[in-house]
Amino acid sequence: MTTPEYAVELRGIRKSYAGTEVLRGVDLAVRAGEVTAILGPSGSGKSTLLRIINHLEKVDAGIVRVGGELVGYRRKGATLHELREREILRQRSRIGFVFQNFNLFPHLTVLENVALAPIAAQGRPRAEAEAAATDLLRRVGLGDRSAAYPRQLSGGQQQRVAIARALALRPRVILFDEPTSALDPELVGEVLDAIRGVVRAGATLVIVTHEVGFAREIADTVVLLDAGRIIEQGPPHEVLDNPGHDRTKAFLSHVL
Ligand code: ADP
Ligand code: MG
Repeated sequence: MTTPEYAVELRGIRKSYAGTEVLRGVDLAVRAGEVTAILGPSGSGKSTLLRIINHLEKVDAGIVRVGGELVGYRRKGATLHELREREILRQRSRIGFVFQNFNLFPHLTVLENVALAPIAAQGRPRAEAEAAATDLLRRVGLGDRSAAYPRQLSGGQQQRVAIARALALRPRVILFDEPTSALDPELVGEVLDAIRGVVRAGATLVIVTHEVGFAREIADTVVLLDAGRIIEQGPPHEVLDNPGHDRTKAFLSHVL
């Protein structure tokens, strides 16, 4: 198989809820190893866009490819047929997702949280998955907390576990949905540091964030989403320092 040109590709994405269109024709392409930061006001469709990438939401129109593979559908002639749940889960198991509210399994230890999906969804041997999980926890600075339960950890520690859990899937891309917005300010830095480590390791990231300074630092491409449309897209210095659109200027003046 040839290497796909893009790690993530969205073409003509449209999505409505109850007759209201929240994504109005979104095109986005992310190369392997690149970081794309999505900024935009609340309600502009950022979370919906991420959820569409791993087929947690179905599109009304358009296609998604991850690693060159159509997500959620199989093409039969001119029509698309939705994949079976099993195949959707297989695809989803290669797409890491870090949520605003961590979403760890409360009844599992930190180590079990990280090792579960590789064992259950990817069929990796337990011993191997747990060894890999131990390594990943060390990488996010939690090598000594593997036996703890999520409730025994701070929010920043829980989010770092969630990052280790996403990495454990050996994902083609990791999606971050406002990974620091639920944290007390003093815990934001440790999570941003963990994300910096992920970026340095060469992962492909799509990250929704209101941390504009952080986006400027890590992103190859910054995207401004407004009312379901991409109104600005480019290198951070272009979009953030020299926005072409009045809506971008207005947005930036609020968050900066
Ligand atoms: P953002 O993450 O940028 O704040 P969202 O993608 O969460 O925006 O939401 C975009 C719009 O879609 C909002 O108006 C929101 O209320 C609406 N929306 C999101 N999810 C649903 C849903 N499951 N059902 C109905 N409306 C939704
Ligand atoms: Mg959101």
